[in-house]
Amino acid sequence: MSPAEGPLANPRVRFAPSPTGKLHLGSARTALFNWLVARGSGGSLVLRLEDTDPERSSEEFERDIIDSLHWMGLEWDEGPDVGGAHGPYRQSERSDIYRENAERLLAEGKAYRCYCTPGELEARRKSVVSSGRAWRYDRRCLGLEAAERERLESEGAPSTVRFLVPEGSVTVEDMLRGEVVVDAGEIDDFIIVRSDGSAGFHLAVVVDDITMEITHVIRGDDHLTNAVRHVLLFGALGATAPKFLHHSLLMGPDGAKLSKRHGSTSVSDYREKGYLPVALTNYLALLSWSPGDDREIFTLGELVSEFGIAGVSASKAIFDFDKLNWLNRQHMKKLSSGELTDMVAPFLEREGRAELLALPREKLELAVESVRNGMETLTDAVGPTDIYVRPAGSIDDKAGAELDKSDVLDEALGLCIEALRSAGGSDREAAEGIVESLRAAAKERGWGAKKVLWPFRLAVTGLTVGPDLVYLIMFWGADGCAERIEATRRTLEARDG
Ligand code: GLU
Repeated sequence: MSPAEGPLANPRVRFAPSPTGKLHLGSARTALFNWLVARGSGGSLVLRLEDTDPERSSEEFERDIIDSLHWMGLEWDEGPDVGGAHGPYRQSERSDIYRENAERLLAEGKAYRCYCTPGELEARRKSVVSSGRAWRYDRRCLGLEAAERERLESEGAPSTVRFLVPEGSVTVEDMLRGEVVVDAGEIDDFIIVRSDGSAGFHLAVVVDDITMEITHVIRGDDHLTNAVRHVLLFGALGATAPKFLHHSLLMGPDGAKLSKRHGSTSVSDYREKGYLPVALTNYLALLSWSPGDDREIFTLGELVSEFGIAGVSASKAIFDFDKLNWLNRQHMKKLSSGELTDMVAPFLEREGRAELLALPREKLELAVESVRNGMETLTDAVGPTDIYVRPAGSIDDKAGAELDKSDVLDEALGLCIEALRSAGGSDREAAEGIVESLRAAAKERGWGAKKVLWPFRLAVTGLTVGPDLVYLIMFWGADGCAERIEATRRTLEARDG
């Protein structure tokens, strides 16, 4: 199918991670592409866990993958946790199915047992390579006499099963790259059953894709060379190969495969850092997909209706941390104060900000809203909002030193208290009115506004940095601010004896 053919008809796609690490951003992008294809065309998404490596697979990683996908807003129609008609969905539970298929290939002469030990193989490989030739399995066991085979079997010699690669050329039809044609003569008789009886990667993937009725395989282009073997296996097992789409891999800014060297690479790390799931999915979708115009901000729902394979490009996907941060800001901007507060609250909790969380809800929302502009991620609300639980009259050294610099401190603070007390109130209008009246009072005295507004900030909060004064007045109310200024005055008096 070429990209021009439009939406796919009821595709069955799958995301097949190996639970040998936390969900990597690259895999998350593969999952997202599959999900978008399924949801955009009335198809089904299967989650299949490729946990055939017991040493490296763990339940903890399985949990991380499932939780991270859910956090991104993705769900699936069939999988180890939700069941389905094509299960089980963990490869470790499918050994019988692989065995049956391997036996069938053996019986049909499409595969053969190989008794070569790793040591023997290595010695032969070395001698071939040292003579300047490329090593491929030399098919020694393909030509074994029946008597020799029986002897090895009766001695209990361990064996693998190798696929007998047929002659000719192999074509992988890739929706992104067109036809990839490879001469089968370049392909080794690869192992489909290991010496411990477990299925090799290629056999397991192909048997699963056949039995799970997968119509489209969408995965990273590191699997393009595997696809050639897969096409051969599909054919040998009498099945039509699915359509393939091998998307480009995720690279770091230096062009090397995105790894920890470049920064955080797992979805859960970004979750913990306070990125919005919608920003991450937006970002991952834009890495090699474009809507065809200059729009960049998409919710997951918008992506479902907009995403199409025709918009996917095969060019390199370079991870750009600045772009992700920018998108995070854009999506945060769209949140109401209430929504933003709901998302920030777990981070306040994680960082032990119980006092802030105990504030009345509208105060907490105001506190979060007041620091919104300085936030790149949700965690950025932790710290700046502490200003709202500082005890009145506590001044940090820097603020104290700044107050000392004022040559009209007493008069300025007096003006602030007077303006606050006479205006009263705590809504935005009242707060803006108070700030305006302070500017006017400064002007009347021939002062710059800063002469009054700066001591106001320092005396109300005890800090040199913080949210807009309007928010401070809305949070504590005009009277509350006046009391805080008075408390600061007392602190200064006590300090100066
Ligand atoms: N389990 C493989 C991986 O995590 C995916 C195999 C496939 O998609 O065919 O890279």
